[in-house]
Amino acid sequence: MTTPDPDPSPFAGAGVPTQPPRRRKGPGWRRFTWVILVVNVLFLVEFIGTVVAASHQTYSCSELLGIRYCTPTTADANRVHVVIAVIVLWVAVDVILGVLWMVTRGRECPVCGRRVRRGDVICGSCGHDFRITA
Ligand SMILES: [Zn+2]
Repeated sequence: MTTPDPDPSPFAGAGVPTQPPRRRKGPGWRRFTWVILVVNVLFLVEFIGTVVAASHQTYSCSELLGIRYCTPTTADANRVHVVIAVIVLWVAVDVILGVLWMVTRGRECPVCGRRVRRGDVICGSCGHDFRITA
């Protein structure tokens, strides 16, 4: 049994330089960015769960003069308030996290363009000293 050639292209090994792809650790996100992402996913799951629970409304119905009147039960009316509360909390947490994210984002190195943590005066990538230009 013979294994087929994985690359039968006539250009294979014919002087075509193949550069190895530059490796990067993840998408280059900070840990704090991941925290925001996880918090938002948790809120989304919580929000969907709350909306699904609130959408299963039960009504207490009564008939008066042959006309059927239905009103949502008190417990279900409270569920709508829970949905609004979740939205308000979600927005509030996102605003706080967004402000924190902006504040802790740091600055960009003018030489190599990499993000340098706030408080650091020397770029960890190229060694640029911020005290010289700043
Ligand atoms: Zn730099």
